[in-house]
Amino acid sequence: MLKRTVFESEHDMFRDSFRKFLTEEAVPHHAQWEKDGQVSRELWSKAGEFGYLCPTVPEEYGGVGADFRYNAIVDEEIANFGLSGVGFGLHSDIAVPYIMAYGSEELKQKYLPKCVSGELVTAIAMTEPGTGSDLQGIKTNAVLDGDHYILNGSKTFITNGQMADLVIVVAKTNPEEGSKGTSLLLVEASSDGFEKGQNLEKIGMKAQDTSELFFQDVKVPKENLLGAEGMGFIYLMQELPQERLSVGLNAIASAESIFEQTIAYVKERKAFGRNISSFQNTQFKLAEMSATLTMARIFIDKCLELHLTKELDVVTAAKLKLLSTEIQCDVIDECLQLHGGYGYMLEYPVARAYADARVQKIYAGTNEIMKLIIGRSLV
Ligand SMILES: Cc1cc2nc3c(=O)[nH]c(=O)nc-3n(C[C@H](O)[C@H](O)[C@H](O)COP(=O)(O)OP(=O)(O)OC[C@H]3O[C@@H](n4cnc5c(N)ncnc54)[C@H](O)[C@@H]3O)c2cc1C
Repeated sequence: MLKRTVFESEHDMFRDSFRKFLTEEAVPHHAQWEKDGQVSRELWSKAGEFGYLCPTVPEEYGGVGADFRYNAIVDEEIANFGLSGVGFGLHSDIAVPYIMAYGSEELKQKYLPKCVSGELVTAIAMTEPGTGSDLQGIKTNAVLDGDHYILNGSKTFITNGQMADLVIVVAKTNPEEGSKGTSLLLVEASSDGFEKGQNLEKIGMKAQDTSELFFQDVKVPKENLLGAEGMGFIYLMQELPQERLSVGLNAIASAESIFEQTIAYVKERKAFGRNISSFQNTQFKLAEMSATLTMARIFIDKCLELHLTKELDVVTAAKLKLLSTEIQCDVIDECLQLHGGYGYMLEYPVARAYADARVQKIYAGTNEIMKLIIGRSLV
């Protein structure tokens, strides 16, 4: 692979220490967490203690005000180790940035320090049983009644759903206005009328808690509105490039890691009296994957660089999300094939990575929606 130029020496040091943290605190427990359906709360507190949560939160709110490359390192290393249950990316890259960008000073003072320390785990609830891609169709509604919004509705497939203490809920505050009547509310999970449903059973990401959430006459203080009423859709559009970058960083790091493990495997495994690495088919498959991953790495690093200067636009982010997740799934599928029957056994990382990867083409906007965004920009 080509040498990466997007990181500096302090990022490399951070990467080394985060790798050590994961090796000690997450890798030995992940198999158990897969059985439990979620990681431990202790992992979150320890990550907060060592400064691995929400690197971009400014110092005045308990963070270190670092740049997004630190988030990228966290995403990449979690993917490198195949720790698909660790939902730091959703918290640090996706949910908390809404509080940073649109929260009032009071909300930032109240919540951000606890997000950084791991005392509060966050989630973002957009999808509903009846609608996902077409977010304008959401039914969850919030009606202002004096000092509170009264929130009613339900959400599904919410990452960190069981663990979450604080949820950004996308709700209609003015159903007649369509997308212009959509707002973002910051809702404490301990509120009366807020119920968490079951931890949903998935084909992969077994240690990641994914849940339904139900709201019945939940009283949300009107100060917990993020930004202005009716601006929810615009805020979502503004934050989605970062979410898609985060997915892409995870995708390519995961594919690279499984690719490296596959090279080691084919050099060891024998068939017909030879190492399977000596077959031309094996070498051709590896060559194709290596070329694809080299190209993908350059594109993703360029997108990360653009994001640092706030130049990553919606269409480029859609291209990145589409390509990186397709490449991830294709590469891991080829790697699984090169493992033969062992590739189908969950004991091998490639098998778990195969199941974990599939959802990447679905969430953060399906890849069909990415094509719509790109297509519309062309015509
Ligand atoms: C493990 C997991 C974690 C998730 N985490 C979260 C989370 O934290 N928060 C959250 O809010 N949501 C989350 N989601 C939900 C996810 O974002 C949605 O599943 C996704 O947006 C698709 O919505 P849907 O499932 O309703 O599918 P649908 O919208 O019903 O789509 C079904 C199919 O139709 C296609 N389709 C839809 N519209 C069009 C169109 N106009 N043109 C062409 N094809 C189209 C889709 O691409 C898809 O192939 C998660 C989902 C999963 C599985």
